[in-house]
Amino acid sequence: MQKGKIGVTTENIFPIIKKFLYSDHEIFLRELVSNAVDATQKLKTLASVGDYKEEMGDTTIRVNLNKKKKTITVSDRGIGMTAEEIDKFLNQIAFSSANEFLDKYKDQANAIIGHFGLGFYSSFMVSDKVEVITRSWQKDSKGVKWTCDGSPEFSIEEVEKKRVGTDVILHIDDDSKDFLEKSRVEELLNKYCKFLPVEIAFGKEQEWKKDKYVDTKKDKIINNTQPAWTKKPADLKDEDYSSFYRELYPTGDEPLFNIHLNVDYPFNLTGILYFPKIKSNIEIQKNKIRLYCNQVFVTDSVEGIVPEFLTLLHGVLDSPDIPLNVSRSFLQSDSNVKKISGHINKKVAERLNDIFMSNRDDFEKKWDDLKLFIDYGMITDEKFYERASKFALFKNTDGKYFTYEEYEKVIRENQTDKNKSLIYLYTTDKENQFSYIEKAKNKGYDVLLMDGQLDTHIINHLETKFKDSRFVRVDSDVVEKIIEKDVTLESKLTDDQQTNITTLFESQIDKKENFVVVAEAMNETDAPVIITQSEFMRRMKDMSQLGGGGMNFYGDLPDSYNVVINNNHSVVSGISEQLDKELGKTLKEHKTKIDRARKEVATEEKSQEGKKEEEITQAEKDKLEKLRKSLDKYEAVHKSELTAYAEKQPLVKQLIDLALLSNNMLKGEKLTNFVKRSIDLL
Ligand code: ADP
Repeated sequence: MQKGKIGVTTENIFPIIKKFLYSDHEIFLRELVSNAVDATQKLKTLASVGDYKEEMGDTTIRVNLNKKKKTITVSDRGIGMTAEEIDKFLNQIAFSSANEFLDKYKDQANAIIGHFGLGFYSSFMVSDKVEVITRSWQKDSKGVKWTCDGSPEFSIEEVEKKRVGTDVILHIDDDSKDFLEKSRVEELLNKYCKFLPVEIAFGKEQEWKKDKYVDTKKDKIINNTQPAWTKKPADLKDEDYSSFYRELYPTGDEPLFNIHLNVDYPFNLTGILYFPKIKSNIEIQKNKIRLYCNQVFVTDSVEGIVPEFLTLLHGVLDSPDIPLNVSRSFLQSDSNVKKISGHINKKVAERLNDIFMSNRDDFEKKWDDLKLFIDYGMITDEKFYERASKFALFKNTDGKYFTYEEYEKVIRENQTDKNKSLIYLYTTDKENQFSYIEKAKNKGYDVLLMDGQLDTHIINHLETKFKDSRFVRVDSDVVEKIIEKDVTLESKLTDDQQTNITTLFESQIDKKENFVVVAEAMNETDAPVIITQSEFMRRMKDMSQLGGGGMNFYGDLPDSYNVVINNNHSVVSGISEQLDKELGKTLKEHKTKIDRARKEVATEEKSQEGKKEEEITQAEKDKLEKLRKSLDKYEAVHKSELTAYAEKQPLVKQLIDLALLSNNMLKGEKLTNFVKRSIDLL
C-alpha cells in the first residue's frame, strides 16, 4: 500500500471546502454523476474509433444508497483510471493561491468548483471518507483503490476489480445525514440529472402486489437521455413539445406555443422556450427557465443570461458557452452571454411575428394571454419594442384587434383634434365607464380596452413613441370636448342663466366633496349632468400610488371630479326657465348691483395699480376695502337666494345624484336619501 499527501499548498483544503461551500452541498451528487457520464461517453468514443475492443455491455450508471453503512455509491462502466491517473487527477490539485481565491468567491460554490476542476472534491462537503475503486480500460490494468478520510493524507492500493469502470463510495458524515434519505437522493437526481445523456439507475421499479407496492427486479431509470431540445425540430411534433413541457413542469398549464433554439455558430446554444399563459404576478416565479450545460442542470436563475422580460418564459436553455464559474456581474459583461441574450431576444420576436403573419386568427385568440409578456418586453427592451411594435395588438371595446398601424388608420379621420393631435380614447373598465363608452361610440369614436396590468405603463410608453398623439380615458371629459374640434355647440342658455344654474347646482353639492361645477353646451340627447375626472389629475394620482418619485403631492390630494351640467338638456333649461319665472326680477336686481360693484372695484384697483405700497393713502385703501366688502355682500345675498331656491327644488339634487349613481359614486346614506327622494318625486 502506498501513502501520500494530496498536493495542495494550503495545508488543509477540506475544512475550507466544507466551510465555504456549505450553501450548495447538494451539488456533490451532480458532480459525481456527471463525472461518471463523462467517463462512460469517453469509453464509448474509444470503442467507436476501435481503440477499445472489448464488449461495452450495459453502461447504466448506478447510484446506490446504503442507509445502514451510511454510504452513497456512484458506479459507472466508463474508462476508469490507472494508479498514475489517480495521482494526476485526484491528488495533484493545482492550487496556487487557494486562500485568496476562496476569499473572493466565498459565496459561489459553482465558481470555485468549476475553476479548479474540483468537482470530485465536492464529495468531501458531505463525507468523512471517500473511496474510489477503479479499473482503467487500458489493457492489463489492475484494480486500484484510493481512500481519503478528509485530511490531505490518502492511501492507494491494488485491489481485485472485474470490470472496467469506477465506483465512488461516499461515507456520509453525521452533519449530512439527510442525504441518506431515499427521497432526498431522488430529489437531487431529479433536479440535476434528469436529462443526462447516459442512463442512470436509482432503486427499482415498483409494482402493486396484493396490498402494497414492492420492488421488482427492474432498475428504475431516473433520466431521459434524449430530451426534446437535443433533437432536430423537424423530428418533433406538437405533441412532443407538449409532453416535454409536462416533463419539465408536471403541474403546469398547457403553454401557448414554443420556440426551439438551435445555434452552433458563433456560439453553441440549444433549448426550447415556452410561452406560458401569464394571468397574474404570482405565477411568474413558479416555473422558471432552466439552464443546462451539456444536459447537466446548472441553475434556474437565468437573470443576466436572457433579457429580463424573457425570464417570464418557461423551458430550457443548454449552452457550454455560458461561463458558469464566474460571478453574475461578470456574466453580464461576457461577450458570449451578450450575444446569446441578443439572439434569444431576436428569435422570440421572429417566432411571434411568424405566428402573427401565418395565422393571425390564432395569434388574436392567444393575444390576451400573451399581452402581458409582450407589453413588458416592449416597455423594458428597446430592441424588442422595435420588433414587436409590428405585431403587438390593440383591442377595442367591441373585441376587435388591430396592429398599431391599422388602428391609427381607423381613428385618423375622426379622432384628430383641432391641434392636429391624434386622440386614442380608452377605457380601463368596460362596466363602470359604460355610459361614456356608449357616448363616444355614438359620436363615431372608437374606444380601446386598456384594462391590463401593464396598460398604464404601455400608454405612457406609446405616447413617447407615437408622434402627435395622446391617450385620453373616455370619462375624462364630456364627449363634446374629449376631442376638441373647431366647431362648438350653441348654448340654449344665456351667460347669466348659465351662471345662475351653475351656482344653483354648486349650492347642492356636498361641501366635503372636491367637485368643480361647470356648465357646458352639449347635445340635447346627452345626460343632463355628467361626472368627469381630468386625465392629467388621474394619471398623477395613479403614478403617485405606484410610488413614482416626487409624486406624493398629487397622491395626497383628494380625488377631484368635474360635475358638468348640460345647458342644452330640456330638464336643465326647464329648471332655468322656472327659476327666471319665480326669481327672475330679484336675480336681475342682484346682478345689476353685483355688476356695478364689480366695476367699481375694478376701477379702484386699476387706479392703485403700479403704485408702491407707501404711495397709496389710507383713504384709498379704505375705499377699496369697502367696495370689496360690498361686492362680497351682494354676491353672498345672490348666492343665498339661489341656495334657498335650490333647497326647494328636489330636481337639482336628483340630477346630481343620478350622475353620481351612474358613476357608481352614490353610496350609503346618500343612496338611501336618493331612493326616498325618487319615491317622493313619483
Ligand atoms: P473535472 O471533472 O472538472 O475535470 P473532477 O475533480 O471532477 O474535475 O475530476 C478530475 C478528473 O478525474 C476528471 O477530469 C477525470 O479525468 C477523472 N475522473 C473523475 N471521476 C471519474 C470517473 N468516474 N471515471 C473516470 N475518471 C474520472
